[in-house]
Amino acid sequence: MNKKTIASFIIALSISLTACGNMGKPIVSDEVVSKTETSAKELQDDTANKTQSINYLTLVNKLNSVPDGWENSLETVTITNSLGDDVEVEKKAYDAYVELKAELEKDGINVDLASARRSVEEQQGVMDKFIKTYGAEYATKTVAAPGYSEHHTGLALDLYLNIDGEDVYSKKDMVKYTEIWEKIHKKISEYGFILRYLEDKEYITGYGYEPWHLRYIDDVKIAQEITAKGLTLEEYLGVVNSSDVNVDLGTSEMYTEEELKEAAIQVKCKFATFKGCELQSVRYIGDGSNTQDNIRWLNSLNEGAEYIKVAEFITDFHTPKEGSESFIADQDVRAYPWWLAQNKDGGWHLVKWGYY
Ligand SMILES: [Zn+2]
Repeated sequence: MNKKTIASFIIALSISLTACGNMGKPIVSDEVVSKTETSAKELQDDTANKTQSINYLTLVNKLNSVPDGWENSLETVTITNSLGDDVEVEKKAYDAYVELKAELEKDGINVDLASARRSVEEQQGVMDKFIKTYGAEYATKTVAAPGYSEHHTGLALDLYLNIDGEDVYSKKDMVKYTEIWEKIHKKISEYGFILRYLEDKEYITGYGYEPWHLRYIDDVKIAQEITAKGLTLEEYLGVVNSSDVNVDLGTSEMYTEEELKEAAIQVKCKFATFKGCELQSVRYIGDGSNTQDNIRWLNSLNEGAEYIKVAEFITDFHTPKEGSESFIADQDVRAYPWWLAQNKDGGWHLVKWGYY
């Protein structure tokens, strides 16, 4: 293995428990290659389709995939780093990033771009590599499913730091520099960025805190409002409620605490989309629900599914004061069920929720 191969291998291994996945080796040069050069014919077609500009507030998360045809309207630039790694970024997001970077440099803070856009195919490649290296259970737990990574949009940017001339890009090392991140986070909204994965908002975003993962939304006023109020994009868009509770994991001989916590996050993320509802409790009801009948039932709900284990959680919650299309006003709902399943590769699939 030559040096670069080893470096690449280490980078692959360092793709860690993050929404971002690929916190690659740093970029040094700022050579920009435009991928948007078009022929006159294409330009004409492009103009004809000009209504198709991207919506910078598009939500992509574990429940919302990147919209169909997104890449058709996406204009990107690609930066080549000193190792020959390319980082592709949506064009306006890149312009804003360059300004932010220059502003931070005035305060002696040096950042660079580790990773930005990944296509669905590239995400599948990351997933495949992880399955091969770590096994499917770890892979499905730690890598965003292809189609459901915000990095598909080109609007998600992962930064890394340069401290006293040394590049710092592993998650483990980067999180130590809390004061530097704080200073960075104070600046980002002026350039149309928000911090996407906030502390203590995993039950909404599905991801733990990631100080390096910025999201470009192309509107300074909205970015400032979201930042000032400490909101997630989901909360700003009004697609979630913000209620949270501690989870009662009960007892299990089938699942580890980590597995049950991961399952509970899926339940909470889905519950967060129950607009106006207030979560009161989440409980794993025990291994007794893992019956052959239940396994058969969940398999029958998804064509091609090969679930081998199931887990049932129940929640108590209160419906919205005013009621809504989905809920009768001001009711206590008790023991509302949530069914998750695993296939032989592990990883949770939230298959069914609600009464039936
Ligand atoms: Zn990221």
